Amino acid sequence: MPSKRNPSAPTAEPSVKISARGAERLLSRHPWVYRSDVGEEKDIPAGALVRVHDQRGKFLGTALYSSSSQIAIRMISHGSVTDLPALIAERIRAGIAYRKDLVSNTEAYRVVFSEADFLPGLIVDRYNDVLTVQILTQAMDAAGVRSAIVETLKSELQPAGVVERVEARIRELEKLPALPSSLLWGKKSATEIKMNGVAFHYDSLEGQKTGAFLDQRENYAAAAQYAHGEALDAFCYQGGFALHLALQSGLHSVAKVSKVTGVDSSRPALEMAEKNAALNGIELEWMEANAFDLLREYAAAGRQYDTIVLDPPAFAKTKRDLEKALRGYKELNLRAMKMLRPGGILATCSCSFHVSGADFLKVVADAAQDAHKSLRIIENRGAAKDHPVLLNVPESSYLQCLIMSVSN
Ligand code: SAH
Repeated sequence: MPSKRNPSAPTAEPSVKISARGAERLLSRHPWVYRSDVGEEKDIPAGALVRVHDQRGKFLGTALYSSSSQIAIRMISHGSVTDLPALIAERIRAGIAYRKDLVSNTEAYRVVFSEADFLPGLIVDRYNDVLTVQILTQAMDAAGVRSAIVETLKSELQPAGVVERVEARIRELEKLPALPSSLLWGKKSATEIKMNGVAFHYDSLEGQKTGAFLDQRENYAAAAQYAHGEALDAFCYQGGFALHLALQSGLHSVAKVSKVTGVDSSRPALEMAEKNAALNGIELEWMEANAFDLLREYAAAGRQYDTIVLDPPAFAKTKRDLEKALRGYKELNLRAMKMLRPGGILATCSCSFHVSGADFLKVVADAAQDAHKSLRIIENRGAAKDHPVLLNVPESSYLQCLIMSVSN
């Protein structure tokens, strides 16, 4: 019988040999092997599926190859893979199923979180009837993979629109052709969502990151639980914490928030925050300012608050920035602690990949020492459960959120 070429049939995949150090990493269930631990890479196409072997030739599994990233291979299976699009479809369905029991009280959540869902380089977020997709590796950018992603999402989640949000810098690093963010399927790219009973506008083709900070969703509700009195949300973006403090506080206590001020340096973010407040039928105070300067000024002037949220952008984008980042966190936390009345609540966050939970605790403790304050940790939290943390993959635990009560 003449054989027809079947694109999903097993092909002779290229293979790579990795160093003992690389193999050890894989055995610890970390999915990355750096270029320096990969042997000869001749003739491996960008984004190829590669079979991975150790120095003695033992087969370790199958990985996605990048010709340009320092992370040369990202494991996708500890066995053989014959049909990558089919495997990706199956993993997306698994990601959806995993969240069925974990995610509640929200129309917006992360459906697929890259390595943490065993899909390196793919992020999918759901905002009610709009889905956003981010493609971050060469392998995920292949046409067959892209269509498997869109088709699976359409059939499993019945969206009104699927939008690709492009991170231009990452495409450049992966040596992928530049692309604009755009609708991949359907007609809808903007919608409204409710999380924890609070409503937000969402426009997938606007805003930073994926437009809303879904990883903070459970922290919004947690912080609101303890918030009271006069509250300041520094680095408020589109009002995630501020709106929760205003609308959800007092659920578990008699104390309630009397006033909320949101501060951010981005005017468009504040305009959206104001619209979000209106969507919930409330008005809050929004201030366009450099939060560092404002906190310094307010602390010096002896201003006081009962609740302060600090959720600055990632200060440590690379390991080299770590020292500077820690100084930044220390200064912010010090000022906030000084301004909090006894019994006040500090919800303080770090979303820097290179700042571990231990680093962050230490820097906040140092700030307390300098502020001459005792604090009690009410909750030591991370990202919402739809942003899974993989044990043995410290990079997947990037968000820290401490909620504390300040004494004198
Ligand atoms: N808490 C927000 C997310 C904050 S992201 C939420 O949950 O939705 C960080 C925010 O800090 C961004 O909105 C950015 O515009 C803002 N920002 C960055 N540098 C700033 C500065 N120096 N002063 C005030 N805001 C700043």
